[in-house]
Amino acid sequence: MSSNNSHRNGGSISRPMKNDNNNNTNYYNSNNSKSSSSSSASSFKSKAQQSTSVTSTLRRSSTGGSSRDNSAVSGRVRVAVRLRPRNEEEMLADADFADCVELQPELKRLKLRKNNWDSDTYEFDEVLTEFASQKRVYEVVAKPVVESVLDGYNGTFMAYGQTGTGKTYTIGRLGEEDTANRGMMLRAMEDILAEVSPENDLVSVSYLQLYMETIQDLLNPANDNISIVEDPKTGDVSLPGATVVEIRDHKSFVELLQLGEAHRFAANTKLNTESSRSHAILMVNIKRSVKGGSSALSSENGNITLTGKTSKAPIVRKSKLVIVDLAGSERIDKSGSEGHTLEEAKSINLSLSALGKCINALAENSSHVPVRDSKLTRLLKDSFGGTARTSLIITVGPSPRHRGETSSTIMFGQRAMKVENMLKIKEEFDYKSLSRRLDIQLDKLMAEHERQQKVFQDEIERVTSEAQKRVVEVQRNYADALEKEKLKYEKDYMESVKKLEEQRATKQEKHGHQKLNSESPIVSASGDVAEMRKRLQNETLLRKAAEVEIDNLNNQLIHQKNAEDAGNAELLKLRKMLEDEIRQKAKLEEEIAVLQSQLLQISFEADETRRNLDRGLNGKVPSSLDSLIPQVKHQQCTDSGDGEKASMAKLFEQVGLHRILSLLEAEDADVRIHAVKVVANLAAEELNQEKIVEAGGLTSLLTLLRSSNDETIHRVAAGAIANLAMNETNQELIMSQGGISLLSLTAANAEDPQTLRMVAGAIANLCGNEKLQTKLRAQGGIKALLGMIRCRHPDVLAQVARGIANFAKCESRASTQGTKGGRSLLIEDGALTWMVQNANNEASPIRRHIELALCHLAQHEANAKEMISGGALWELVRISRDCSRDDIRTLAHRTLKFSPSFQAELKRLRIDYG
Ligand code: ADP
Ligand code: MG
Repeated sequence: MSSNNSHRNGGSISRPMKNDNNNNTNYYNSNNSKSSSSSSASSFKSKAQQSTSVTSTLRRSSTGGSSRDNSAVSGRVRVAVRLRPRNEEEMLADADFADCVELQPELKRLKLRKNNWDSDTYEFDEVLTEFASQKRVYEVVAKPVVESVLDGYNGTFMAYGQTGTGKTYTIGRLGEEDTANRGMMLRAMEDILAEVSPENDLVSVSYLQLYMETIQDLLNPANDNISIVEDPKTGDVSLPGATVVEIRDHKSFVELLQLGEAHRFAANTKLNTESSRSHAILMVNIKRSVKGGSSALSSENGNITLTGKTSKAPIVRKSKLVIVDLAGSERIDKSGSEGHTLEEAKSINLSLSALGKCINALAENSSHVPVRDSKLTRLLKDSFGGTARTSLIITVGPSPRHRGETSSTIMFGQRAMKVENMLKIKEEFDYKSLSRRLDIQLDKLMAEHERQQKVFQDEIERVTSEAQKRVVEVQRNYADALEKEKLKYEKDYMESVKKLEEQRATKQEKHGHQKLNSESPIVSASGDVAEMRKRLQNETLLRKAAEVEIDNLNNQLIHQKNAEDAGNAELLKLRKMLEDEIRQKAKLEEEIAVLQSQLLQISFEADETRRNLDRGLNGKVPSSLDSLIPQVKHQQCTDSGDGEKASMAKLFEQVGLHRILSLLEAEDADVRIHAVKVVANLAAEELNQEKIVEAGGLTSLLTLLRSSNDETIHRVAAGAIANLAMNETNQELIMSQGGISLLSLTAANAEDPQTLRMVAGAIANLCGNEKLQTKLRAQGGIKALLGMIRCRHPDVLAQVARGIANFAKCESRASTQGTKGGRSLLIEDGALTWMVQNANNEASPIRRHIELALCHLAQHEANAKEMISGGALWELVRISRDCSRDDIRTLAHRTLKFSPSFQAELKRLRIDYG
């Protein structure tokens, strides 16, 4: 706090009064010490006390247990008295009477006349005569308070006095008619606005009226019951419900006061009262930022250390100026004439009498101050006995008729002068703005740090690349220099060699020449020669050393190459071994497969043998290919046969069809034979046929027919094909793969009747397929069949007959469906002769097939002529009479009967056939 501040505060209370200049505006420096009565008769009644004990002061001024009481300064409530000039009425009514008040401003004394000869004298802090200007009143009463408030203290100034004595004139006059008359509110705001900085400081006001213990908002009449809130910690009172208006210029403040007055007038009309009955309260809140160093707090805990620097927390000072135009102090309870009941009157004056009681208690250092008795005393808690700088102006009128009221006003003022406050600046650190500021600082530092780091890194990169460049350059320079040096030496060397050779040549020449003349030049040249020789030797030695080195290296190279070759050889050997192993393995696997297929075959044969034994009487030669002929194929297996079959199937599964088929192409003939046998046996089973064909078995079998010269293989393969040929789909496949020509070829080359039987069986099966007839015949199928007649074996002939019968049957079916016209292809190919010859063959299978075939041929009229000429008619007649099979016999008979050609021939021969 500046010395100027302390100069103005109550710390100088002990200064003698006489040092004060009357005109000095430093009103607070004045002492309120008693003065002696000027009149011997008058009793001196100054009530102000010379000093106040420090302890009591501290007690009274303690606020919220602040630890900073040592910075508080004692400040007594200052009281000035102002005398209103006589008004017109008084001038008339009191014309004959002297004023009851006499002022001695130079002595700061007021004399209250009791009567013409007796008066009481009172001393005040300031005595303002009826001539005192508003400006002067402001300067001595209010200005010091305003200055304190701007310094951060709370402040109060207020007017107390009887109605009509000039309280409002002093405090609230707007001076619209004459600006010199404007009151203290306006002047205070002028000073405040002149002092504060619009950027950093904040001035705001609330304007209120207190009437019958109700606080009304004069800036917003709707707020008519505002409550007082007390901070439990600091004890500070506030009115959160009141309108707060920020003031930026004087004009807006004047408008605000005018608005407040208008509202006050309206409110009082509504309440049927006068403004003299209510207290008008203007609250001005000022928030100021303190520039570094000047604060009371800054020396203590306002310093915050960050990165070694000291950063000052910004400090804000919050102060409050309370300006009160109190209600009239006259006792209204004595008259009911103003339309109030006694209770109302009591309530109207409650706040004012409570204020009086508090001031009394404070003046008397009483332990209890009834602050909480009224709203006014609660609002003025800080103004009396608190931390605020407080000035009170008491207004009095001159009229002796109001002597009593004037006296009580004076007594109030006298008591108030005894109230001691402890002035204290309310300031706090603005941590929010400090934090904001530090954040900004931190951000800046971080950015700077990052920037520097980047610069540093860039620098490192630059230095590194420069260094690398330099190294490269030096290396290059060095290499260049080395190269140059080398070239130079080489050149020198060549030149010196050349020179030496030239010298030698000249010397030899000379030598030869001089030999004839003199010996001496030789002696002189011999030195050079010796040196040359020495150099030559040297060079030779060096070259030898180099050659030795080269040899050495070559040796090493050879050595390494040898080692490598050895390694490679080893590798090759191992690879070969591995290949051998693989081959061995494949061979073994093949052998295993062969053994397994042999086992399969043996099992098969065993099964057959058992079956044949079971057949007993049949007495037929056991043949593994019995299954070929459908009629005798597979008798019902016995139970044991089932078991055998199951084990075979298992074996077959184990070995795998592909494996078996692959063995068809095995190099070993035995293996091939076994494999063909296995396939043939498998093909006898309808179940396996499809699988075999799918796996390419048919193709393999046909290939065997073509490629193999082995009769056995031919026989077995043809048997297998015959078995597969039982199925219609396979028949087409056989045909499409050139099966007929292969089978024909096989038949032509075969000796063994069993081979022929198999081939004939296969073709016979194919003959049963209507769709393939033309193709079969075109590929020589029928010719092949008839070709096999050369073998007289009845089994072969039976298959040939079956084939013919099958073919004839298909032809007859086609002719009845009208899809075939013309003569039978069988007849075309010359089958008829053999058929007629063997129609009555002793072997029943042959006979029956031919009989059937003849019947089929006879169905078609186109064949009739040939059949008649070929002798088939007689056979048909015989069949129709003698055939042991009923169905064939009936067929022959019906055929003869319904064929016009046969009937005509029979008629011609006069054979009666009916
Ligand atoms: P209060 O507010 O105390 O009831 P006012 O301020 O209304 O008294 O004053 C009553 C009358 O006296 C008003 O007409 C006012 O102009 C006049 N008056 C008061 N004080 C003075 C003064 N010092 N000089 C001239 N006129 C005054
Ligand atoms: Mg008034």
